[in-house]
Amino acid sequence: MKILLIEDEKPIAKALRSGLSTSYLVDLAYTGKKGIYKALTNDYDLIILDLNLPDTSGFEVCQELRQAQLSCPILVLTGKNLAESKAVLLDAGADDYVVKPFSLVEIKARMRALLRRHNAPTGTTTKIGQLSLNPQTQTVLFNHKPLSLSKKEFLLLQYFLRHRNVPLSRLQIAEHIWEGASYLTSNTVDVHVCNLRRKIGLPDSNQLIKTMHGIGYKLVAENN
Ligand code: CA
Repeated sequence: MKILLIEDEKPIAKALRSGLSTSYLVDLAYTGKKGIYKALTNDYDLIILDLNLPDTSGFEVCQELRQAQLSCPILVLTGKNLAESKAVLLDAGADDYVVKPFSLVEIKARMRALLRRHNAPTGTTTKIGQLSLNPQTQTVLFNHKPLSLSKKEFLLLQYFLRHRNVPLSRLQIAEHIWEGASYLTSNTVDVHVCNLRRKIGLPDSNQLIKTMHGIGYKLVAENN
């Protein structure tokens, strides 16, 4: 999981990054403008945004990201007790907030809740050819027969289906499927893709999930 932390107070930013780095990959931005740029040019699972920034307010950052149709959860850090302006904050597009000083335990719990909510199954079954994935029941059918996938293989297939016909790098895949960097070895993704192809069992399943030399993989969906 990849997180963007927009916070100008470097000691807080660095402490938070080191506290979160066991579970997440954390990118830092020290100004609102850099935060907006990074948020719109990368693919993050969650953004932690300080309200009080030197160049532009967190409110404005939040509004701008939502206007740009960014949908990832935004957790706001604030120094004030926001009892009265919580509605304003939520209207600006934030999903939740934490009042400083906060504990790492609290912020991690809020993050988990937001990620759970954001990644909750929508119930829409995705289909490509003979393959169908139901996020609600966590089942995958191929030719009407259920495939027995591990949790990571399921997430991997789901990620491919969400980004069909888009070349995905191994790093991109790993960052979204595995929590934190500690799980990543150079061939973890390759092993899982190989297992997924084998379980789908198409004679040409290498054509369904294509190896893109020098890049990574791409799920090819011609009629979708
Ligand atoms: Ca600040």
